Amino acid sequence: MLSGKSAIVTGSTSGIGLGIARGLAASGANIMLNGFGNADEIEAIRSDLAGEHNIKVLYSPADMTKPQDIADMVEQAESEFGSVDIMVNNAGIQYVAPIEEFPIEKWDAILAINLSSAFHTTRLALPAMKKNAWGRVVNIASAHALVASPFKSAYVSAKHGIAGLTKTAALEVAEHGITVNAVCPGYVMTPLVEKQIPEQAKARGITEQQVISDVLLAAQPNKRFVTVEELAGVVTFLCTDNAKSITGITLPVDGGWTAH
Ligand code: NAD
Repeated sequence: MLSGKSAIVTGSTSGIGLGIARGLAASGANIMLNGFGNADEIEAIRSDLAGEHNIKVLYSPADMTKPQDIADMVEQAESEFGSVDIMVNNAGIQYVAPIEEFPIEKWDAILAINLSSAFHTTRLALPAMKKNAWGRVVNIASAHALVASPFKSAYVSAKHGIAGLTKTAALEVAEHGITVNAVCPGYVMTPLVEKQIPEQAKARGITEQQVISDVLLAAQPNKRFVTVEELAGVVTFLCTDNAKSITGITLPVDGGWTAH
């Protein structure tokens, strides 16, 4: 379905990004993985994906807080694949604390990784996409791009920012065969969510089990976590030609959360 296309998926050594990389690879796209983690484990993922799907799979250790790293990553992908047709901006971190106690360095890091990195990858990937008259930018936002929750000021601000960037970029490139969309997941049980359970328990003065039932799944009417496989399917669909008229949207994949 996507053979001959090449994709960068930021933050794809874990969780949702890895699931999306697997989904795009299964559809035939070459993949540049990115993110942090154990070098041997990342190499195992890289070589397994390449062998399983008979595609090229590269890995970039680019740090999404560093614009020069991001430029090097896009340049490497363009030179080794020939083009970057699909840019999935997924890297993200979370931190949970009341605004008046929110560490300044956490605010800066969340804005850089969850928002500014997508500005950089998009500005760098668009010229070649325009030249090829085909491109897909998919931003992994969050239900928190559409609604807020307490104690997540930086995350909610960055994700609302991603929604704005998505709409603006979509309008700028609509006549070039390029779509720009945001996918807005509800809760997915990945390391990012597992880590915030004790933080939420502390901020709210409740147990970790109560965080799962009364905070996380309380928001989701279908009372289950979204899976990475579901998200990979949605992103892959947005990259197909059948989705070429879908652009500038913030698509909730949240079990009904934002229908409230
Ligand atoms: P995760 O912690 O499992 O994965 C995050 C990925 O980002 C990892 O590969 C990590 O190495 C990478 N990363 C972190 N900092 C980086 C940096 N400075 N440079 C490069 N890579 C970096 O998290 P996840 O739950 O899979 O989240 C992925 C995305 O999905 C995030 O943008 C997150 O906000 C979003 N999201 C997650 C959920 C959820 O419930 N898990 C819900 C909605 C949206």
